[in-house]
Amino acid sequence: MATATKPNVRTYQMYVNGKWVDSKSGKTFPVYDPSTEEVIAYVPDAGPDDVDRAVQAARAAFDEGAWRSTTAQERGRLLFKLAEKIRQNTAFLAELETRNSGKPIVEAEYDVGDVATCFEYYGGLATKVVGYVNPVPDNALSLSMKEPVGVAGQIIPWNYPLLMAAWKLAPALAAGCTCVLKPAEQTPLTILEVANWFEEIGLPPGVVNIVTGYGETAGAPLVAHPGVDKVAFTGSAAVGKLIVKAAADTVKRVTLELGGKSPNIFFADADFEAAVDGALFGVFINQGEVCSAGSRILAEKPIYKKFVDAMCEKAKKIKLGPPLERETKMGPVVSKEQYDRVRSYQDVGKKEAKLAAGGGRPAGLGKGYYVEPTIFYDVDNSAKIAREEIFGPVAAVIPFEGEQNALKIANDTPYGLAAAVWTRDIFKAMRAVKSLRAGIVWVNHMQPTYVEAPWGGFKQSGFGRELGPWGIEEYLETKQVHINLNEQPIGWY
Ligand code: ADP
Ligand code: MG
Repeated sequence: MATATKPNVRTYQMYVNGKWVDSKSGKTFPVYDPSTEEVIAYVPDAGPDDVDRAVQAARAAFDEGAWRSTTAQERGRLLFKLAEKIRQNTAFLAELETRNSGKPIVEAEYDVGDVATCFEYYGGLATKVVGYVNPVPDNALSLSMKEPVGVAGQIIPWNYPLLMAAWKLAPALAAGCTCVLKPAEQTPLTILEVANWFEEIGLPPGVVNIVTGYGETAGAPLVAHPGVDKVAFTGSAAVGKLIVKAAADTVKRVTLELGGKSPNIFFADADFEAAVDGALFGVFINQGEVCSAGSRILAEKPIYKKFVDAMCEKAKKIKLGPPLERETKMGPVVSKEQYDRVRSYQDVGKKEAKLAAGGGRPAGLGKGYYVEPTIFYDVDNSAKIAREEIFGPVAAVIPFEGEQNALKIANDTPYGLAAAVWTRDIFKAMRAVKSLRAGIVWVNHMQPTYVEAPWGGFKQSGFGRELGPWGIEEYLETKQVHINLNEQPIGWY
């Protein structure tokens, strides 16, 4: 039974085997604008049958060669065409991304630029995948060849909806894989719009399938499906752990990016203005809905009090409001569920630490899932707000005394996605770079991310790397080929 839909609200179909289709059950679910709390679209509520149809299409496109027999040049050109389409439609995609996710329009525009850049990067990299001649000690030619891993099942979160889709699709396609991508149920719209161009740019049917559905009913069957060779997941640590277990039954390749509780360390000698700015940017950009958010702010005792005060003063001026307005610097969080989650952490924080700024819902905004940028201080690193990923605009400021103490606190976390350190002392900075157990370390900055550089975590932040040459490697198998050049029998028996 189809969900009762509202008039004038578009019902999308999903993209499977080169066609726009409904879910087999006919069910749909609503998609919201978090700034108005209103339904802006309906999308198919895919179940295991729909996932199966998509995996079979991806399997056929891979096994029967429609995609595998393309040349690297052809795949590269196709990715460039897709990038160009995306660039030409930046305004449209950015607006839709903002309406669906709540992120400020200016940030959404950057995202769409990064999406196009990601497709361009991997379009170029497609032709740079090469093998080796192995120097074996025999009269033989020994080769190692790179081949696509096969069908990739890709599950992404809602914080950077289109960008996360690009991080998954671009390297997979460049490698020659076929894909079944499940966007987050909260934010499926922009990738569905991009799928409109797949046929026009020449992508054969079945190469990319977009299946819209919930985690348990569409994500889990995708992970379990025997026709999927590799699962790439970005999302919560809890679901990441489920995925590793579920993928074990069919020994799928798995890569995981699971977020973190990243330390942003400020030594007393850091440039004060830059430091205050960097602390706020590190934790509040995109409403704090960033896997690498600098949500643990470690400040050295001599500047601690002044630093907290300066952060608060500036945080209070962050312009919250409708995310389509260009002056807006912080929009609503993505959903009611996320709003409740962040609000509950605000309450937990009030019991565990001292509140310096925010702590509730901003006044005067009416509807929408807005939460105030919130700063807690005198936080102990063992507190819940210092250990658990909140994924919202909530900062925990922790005082420290000296370098050893800072690094000890910084590394005392189950996660290890990112870390940043601010100081003018090159020796101190480099020692921190070496000691920090994190996949990404920034010095005197936090958050810049480049398609050319590797992205991924240590410890419980996951494994595998996205972006750069590392990203395509995760979609490649290595095949050893031994070619005997000696025409005599082996002569053993
Ligand atoms: P959050 O709870 O913040 O939304 P999740 O990790 O639950 O983060 O969601 C990230 C992605 O994982 C989404 O696309 C979601 O649908 C998907 N997902 C959630 N649960 C599962 C599951 N059990 N198996 C596979 N995918 C899932
Ligand atoms: Mg979830």
